[in-house]
Amino acid sequence: MKRRKLLMIPGPIEFEPSVLRALGAQTTSHVAADFIEIFGSSLEMMRKVFLSESGQPFIISGSGTLAMEIAVANLVEPGDRVLTLVTGYFGDRFAEIIMRYGAEVDKIIAPLGGSVEMDAIEQKLKSQRYKFVTVTHVDTSTGVVVDVKQLGQLAHKYGAMIVLDGVCSVAGEELYQEDWDIDLVLTASQKALGVPPGLALLMVAPRAIDGWRSRKTYISNYYADFTNWLPVMNSYEARKPSYFATPPVNLVNALNESLRLILKEGMEVRFIRHRLLRDGLQAAIEALGLKQVPIKREVAATTLSAIYYPDGVDGSKFLNKINSEGIIFAGGLHPEIRNRYFRIGHMGPTVPGEIIQAISAIEIALNKCGYKFEVGAGLTAAERIFLNSRN
Ligand SMILES: *Cc1c(COP(=O)(O)O)cnc(C)c1O
Repeated sequence: MKRRKLLMIPGPIEFEPSVLRALGAQTTSHVAADFIEIFGSSLEMMRKVFLSESGQPFIISGSGTLAMEIAVANLVEPGDRVLTLVTGYFGDRFAEIIMRYGAEVDKIIAPLGGSVEMDAIEQKLKSQRYKFVTVTHVDTSTGVVVDVKQLGQLAHKYGAMIVLDGVCSVAGEELYQEDWDIDLVLTASQKALGVPPGLALLMVAPRAIDGWRSRKTYISNYYADFTNWLPVMNSYEARKPSYFATPPVNLVNALNESLRLILKEGMEVRFIRHRLLRDGLQAAIEALGLKQVPIKREVAATTLSAIYYPDGVDGSKFLNKINSEGIIFAGGLHPEIRNRYFRIGHMGPTVPGEIIQAISAIEIALNKCGYKFEVGAGLTAAERIFLNSRN
């Protein structure tokens, strides 16, 4: 029997073998010619993945939370006002970080499983001058995706910037940073970008760079300060050695390989594939009579799904049965419903066959937990979606 289980949590995800080989290659000096090329070309490829030709990419050791903090440390000055859109756990985290830097935070809190209304955002923007608005593109605690296409335009109309937590979206969920005029997008390596945990990545558009340059106060976080990082990014991109803090050589190697694979697939094709995975799983969930955390189809993310256990099914027993089928799902994260739902990550290299495997495990686990349903209904519904997509 296979020892390795299929990891289907919302990060870390399953990584491509060539990405893991790149990670395991001999560590070189961070100023070796080979590595300078790898770092430089990774920065260039990042612009294509974020679809932001004019953005300034940053590759920094750390997790997604650090990427959030770097954005805040560079943009917030004490006394600023920030508007935070909350669609789950990670919106609250953003607000918490912003407060630590001395800004006043107003929140718009979406109903659980719902998204934020554009009207409510506009009302707030009209009532106050905000330096920027933060939004969690996909909140990993609820599986809710916020439609951010018009948000940049709206925020700019009122003189505010828009900062997007794309940790669970970049390279999976549809996102055109430049076309949608988003001033800063941040992410981490271990989610849809498909690289083991350890990299904080940011793409900073010119307006946000200007915002950082025109600040009047000193940045008190030494490690986060763009002043230290910008010359390093510029040097590597010009294929020159540089140093501020030692880059994680192996992870950058792995990032380079993953970005190459992502661009080889192509961004649009990748967005469509993620949508298909979501649609297939969604059809199965509905056919089995289960309910999702997102309150309607249009707000369900394409990178992960959040699903309630049906009445009478014990969550830990269910997840144990899933584990016996060779798959790992994640439990709940949102404090209000933590023990009432589970989460399935389907981002990065995931293929329809793995969704089918997940649905099969769900059916077997539900059956063993005493839930009544028509065996095979979920599989059939998903297969119909996958078959229809091929012609
Ligand atoms: C995972 C995640 C984070 C935090 O990233 P870490 O790497 O765990 O620090 C932040 N925001 C969102 C939307 C996430 O999914």
